[in-house]
Amino acid sequence: MLPDRCEVLVAGGGPVGLATAVELGRRGVDCVVVEPRTAVSHSRPRCKTVNVRTMEHLRRWGIADRLRERAPLPVAWSQDVVFCTSLSGHELSRFHGVLGLAPEAGRCAEPGQQAPQYVLEELLREVVGELAPATLATGHRVVALDQDEHEVRVEVADEAGATRTVVADFVVGCDGPRSVVRARIGADYAGEHALRPNFGMVVRAPDLWRHVRHGPAVQYWTVNPVAPTLMGPLDRDGTWWVIAFGVEREAGHARAREVVDAVAGVPVEAEVLSTDPWTARMQLVDTARRGRVFLAGDAAHLNPPFGGHGLNTGVGDAVDFGWKLAAVLRGWGGPGLLASYEAERRPVQERVIRAAEENMKTLSTDLLDDDLDRDDAAGERARAAAHERIQDTKAAEFHALDLVLDVVHDRSPVVAGGAGERLPHAVLAPGHSLYDDLGPELTLLVHRDPYSAADAFAAAARDRGVDLRVLDRPGAGPGDLVLVRPDQHVAWRGEARPGAAAEIIARACGG
Ligand SMILES: Cc1cc2nc3c(=O)[nH]c(=O)nc-3n(C[C@H](O)[C@H](O)[C@H](O)COP(=O)(O)OP(=O)(O)OC[C@H]3O[C@@H](n4cnc5c(N)ncnc54)[C@H](O)[C@@H]3O)c2cc1C
Repeated sequence: MLPDRCEVLVAGGGPVGLATAVELGRRGVDCVVVEPRTAVSHSRPRCKTVNVRTMEHLRRWGIADRLRERAPLPVAWSQDVVFCTSLSGHELSRFHGVLGLAPEAGRCAEPGQQAPQYVLEELLREVVGELAPATLATGHRVVALDQDEHEVRVEVADEAGATRTVVADFVVGCDGPRSVVRARIGADYAGEHALRPNFGMVVRAPDLWRHVRHGPAVQYWTVNPVAPTLMGPLDRDGTWWVIAFGVEREAGHARAREVVDAVAGVPVEAEVLSTDPWTARMQLVDTARRGRVFLAGDAAHLNPPFGGHGLNTGVGDAVDFGWKLAAVLRGWGGPGLLASYEAERRPVQERVIRAAEENMKTLSTDLLDDDLDRDDAAGERARAAAHERIQDTKAAEFHALDLVLDVVHDRSPVVAGGAGERLPHAVLAPGHSLYDDLGPELTLLVHRDPYSAADAFAAAARDRGVDLRVLDRPGAGPGDLVLVRPDQHVAWRGEARPGAAAEIIARACGG
């Protein structure tokens, strides 16, 4: 199961390590994911928001529908977030079409999907298992590594503690916040911890739905003094996730049932299935690369979970890194491609950390008011004020498509002509996205081409050994060309200048 040699060793088979293996394995790269957990646990369903961009990647991998089939909450079931005093209490405010579940028509190829993290991880494990070049070696962990200019030697321990050395051309550390890979390459997080503790729980309360006065929602923010929480359904059968704000580990265990009753607003039958205390962190590594070793996902950056960006940003890392590394291993990628990984991802990670920190500034704890649950004029005034404050402070958290989709690698060394943006998605026919027609490597969109520049690009791509698909598509105007990368970002756009094709292809391929 664990080979002695591979092209890429992925440390960590969480969502980001698995996504990296999918991107690499689909490109024929021989990769091994080393992961200690033999099975995916359902006890810490951290991510629920799989955003539109991750869903676009899943579509490219041909598995978006497979995630939707297993997601317990279909998109049509609810696209609302509700703020209330309790599930059976007063409604304070509501947002519709949240978290990319109802994006503006034509803005993206896939809506988002609410799915517990374990559902996505189980699917990705299955997909890695279906890819011949990829291996998932569970029951193993990376304990050490060292590298020279040719290879990385990785010490891997099994559950009994016996160690073996695996030699890899490259290593990517996707081993989460306590990353061994990060420590071994001498990289460090910089940034801060939030001061407030949080107590996560999974609760089985089959009767709870009977008390919900606000209809289906993907999140309920309960604003009451006993249980200022954020919570929501994991399924439609009575399993719920709950995050109690400001609650320490010990108090959380002692008060779990009290919190659940306060969330419901009435005493309910409930069983606490698991608990998960956590503290938000705003951290980014000082370097995400040392030689042949790279970091991705939580091993490289941490943000507060509000808005649902951590895993999704990590999947963005996996895609950016995956196609570039595959290109280098297959010979058409130059050294500039690997250098561009950090240049492109760091600004995205910084922006996400800032946005998520902003989202954290107003939580249920900050909205408390003694009058909120009163049935009189004072109660109405307090609820109206809360509604206004919630709409002012929380809209950006639930409507964040600009943050998710307007990712522009404009300072990247491998884009040119002022490009770098995600190619705008276009619907070509019902259910048919422009993205579905892009090639696996480079694609040239051509619209009326008086100089036959497409032929020059095709010749340059052939010389480079990179696959170039040419598509006739209306662009910005006659004669315009758009060169699209494997990750659907634009490497270059411009007028068809005869003679420039080889230089443009070389730059997109990393020199
Ligand atoms: C309450 C909460 C809610 C969240 N909600 C969202 C959300 O809605 N949307 C979102 O995008 N994100 C969300 N997140 C963030 C998300 O959970 C993380 O960003 C995500 O798990 C990161 O994935 P990862 O693969 O980088 O790291 P991890 O999930 O931490 O996976 C790391 C893997 O590495 C393995 N590992 C550890 N040590 C070793 C070793 N030595 N060798 C090999 N393997 C090792 C671990 O077993 C693990 O499988 C949330 C987080 C929290 C706390």
